[in-house]
Amino acid sequence: MNAEIDELLAKTFPAKYGEMVISRGNTAFGVCPHHLLPVIYRISLAYIPTRKVLGLSKLSRLARLMARGPTLQEDLTHELAQVLHENLDSQGSAVFVEGLHLCMAARGVGAHEARLVTSAVRGVFLELATREEFIKLVTTSAQSIL
Ligand SMILES: [Zn+2]
Repeated sequence: MNAEIDELLAKTFPAKYGEMVISRGNTAFGVCPHHLLPVIYRISLAYIPTRKVLGLSKLSRLARLMARGPTLQEDLTHELAQVLHENLDSQGSAVFVEGLHLCMAARGVGAHEARLVTSAVRGVFLELATREEFIKLVTTSAQSIL
């Protein structure tokens, strides 16, 4: 974990309630460790606070910070879930990541359409109903209200 991430996680607010907080569809950029080609991510993050909440802009920044550099999408997904659970001391966390890997796109025939989808859950999100609510909220197509 780098100093920028520690600093970002250090600024929290007292939680007033224990409801699901979701930051949906954050765009972030990374590099695949095998081919060193760019990966464009859309990352949705959720957690249920116990005592501490992060500002919403911090969730986007956390996603962007952790995505940059050569990291496997699977590892990124798990590390984000871990940070939102452990460092925020939350009841649980969930992360859903779609990655457009230029190394896949470059290999042709239809692969440019393919997205790698990964998810990870911790704590109360291990319960099926909570996990399903999260997946539904981040994948339904009523995407934009603006
Ligand atoms: Zn690759």
